Amino acid sequence: MASEYDVVIIGSGTGGYVAAIRAAQLGLKTAVVERAPVLGGTCLNWGCIPTKALLEHAHALKVAQDWKEWGLTIGAAALRQDSGPAIGLDMDQVQARKDKIVKGLTGGVEFLFKKNKIDWIRGSGRLAGKGKVDITDGDTQTLTATKEIIVATGSQPRSVPGIELDRKRIITSDEAINMKTIPKSIVIMGSGAVGVEFASLFRRFGREVTIIELLPRIVPVEDEAVSAELERSFRKQGIKVLTGTKVTSAKPGANGVDLEAQLLDGKAGTLSAEYLLVATGRGPVTSGLGAEEAGLTMDRGYIKVDAQYRTSVPGISAIGDVITFDTPGHPQLAHLSSAEGIVLAERIAGQEVRPINYDHIPGCTYCDPEIGSVGLTEAKAKQRGFDVRIGTFRFGVLGRAKIAGETEGFVKIVAEKKYDEVLGVHMIGSRSTELVAEATLALRLECTVEELIRTIHAHPTMSEAVGEAAHAAHGAAIHS
Ligand SMILES: Cc1cc2nc3c(=O)[nH]c(=O)nc-3n(C[C@H](O)[C@H](O)[C@H](O)COP(=O)(O)OP(=O)(O)OC[C@H]3O[C@@H](n4cnc5c(N)ncnc54)[C@H](O)[C@@H]3O)c2cc1C
Repeated sequence: MASEYDVVIIGSGTGGYVAAIRAAQLGLKTAVVERAPVLGGTCLNWGCIPTKALLEHAHALKVAQDWKEWGLTIGAAALRQDSGPAIGLDMDQVQARKDKIVKGLTGGVEFLFKKNKIDWIRGSGRLAGKGKVDITDGDTQTLTATKEIIVATGSQPRSVPGIELDRKRIITSDEAINMKTIPKSIVIMGSGAVGVEFASLFRRFGREVTIIELLPRIVPVEDEAVSAELERSFRKQGIKVLTGTKVTSAKPGANGVDLEAQLLDGKAGTLSAEYLLVATGRGPVTSGLGAEEAGLTMDRGYIKVDAQYRTSVPGISAIGDVITFDTPGHPQLAHLSSAEGIVLAERIAGQEVRPINYDHIPGCTYCDPEIGSVGLTEAKAKQRGFDVRIGTFRFGVLGRAKIAGETEGFVKIVAEKKYDEVLGVHMIGSRSTELVAEATLALRLECTVEELIRTIHAHPTMSEAVGEAAHAAHGAAIHS
């Protein structure tokens, strides 16, 4: 294998592998250093894909459990329609199907590398001076990058002070995705996307679920109305929601975990469950990378970059979960890391590139009901001084929602009055993670509410709620 490349990328997650493909498309000789035995990073192996595969099983189970409503009968029960089937779950099959999907996708990345003549260098990459990357295990060698080194080493689960992960009883998403036996009870610490997705998953699998959030509301980055709707739905489903609550200690034992927690009013309480899933966020992966020694400016372990992903050292750029800007709060999302990878590869190839607008990054959370959101929340729009107008429309009125039996939730449009521009769209309800694409394009095109109203939404679809929410923002919803 060669040792001199135009671009050397450390990390093959959705940031690194997409940057590699775009660089290769633009004629740059590219290598990717990856130390895991598979390509694809967190998203494909331990994140987006396995969690959504498991959630799809949970959805299938939900439909099967509602067999009476749907008029389903299975096997012998078809002859005795009054009793009906006992619906069970074969976790070996669930895990096998999930693993097959993951394998297919990671194999797909390997195929794309071959197709685009990208070399996969196996081992850990370490920055080793101007244009040099040492491979410290695996294929021991030094690579030269004549144009750029890209750091795309991503993130990993982390805990909070005082709560030690033992990975047996006090676990992270890495362990939770591979459970062959679903625990009878679980406490989930943290109500961001990962926390609420696992809460939905375990509850759909029929288990006792408690979710603990330090802040006053769950999914705290979402619009407040979305948080309130999800909390209402979770309580209805039997998920115990403790907001404004801090876990102060967690002691693992042979059969479970004993927790102590403190409410914001200072009252203390105890809880126990078979498992504690810590979903309080992910930290950057930079250990062994030689980032400080290479002179990169760091911020709490993250690599600081400018709007074009340049680090403080010429010739080294960084993208994805491992980066931060001057303003904290870089979202950790697969599609964002890929978008950054494409912009960066194009910049390295000499193309003129426009910076990404971080107000226009869609976020999807696949809890039940699912959430899709893009742009400013109502509170943020007001904070920025906009004279805001709101339009909300509930899915439950729609024919398609009734047909699907998915009537929870709404679409909320945040717009400003002066130019009628759409600033944000926030949805909770079935298929919101798909519907958000229209809203993202609307923001990208600086669309007005009037243009959303004049966009014809097909019937019967859930997307009609977007058009109706736009009508509502002008005080003229047709169906409510
Ligand atoms: C449970 C879960 C669910 C998620 N669901 C979603 C979702 O639905 N949608 C979404 O957008 N995002 C989701 N995410 C987040 C998403 O997975 C990440 O934002 C995304 O994977 C970040 O990509 P990345 O390329 O920056 O890093 P990563 O995907 O973390 O990839 C980094 C790669 O670098 C390798 N590496 C690290 N250091 C070195 C080194 N020194 N040498 C060689 N290789 C190295 C690692 O092995 C890894 O393969 C989820 C995350 C989790 C944990």
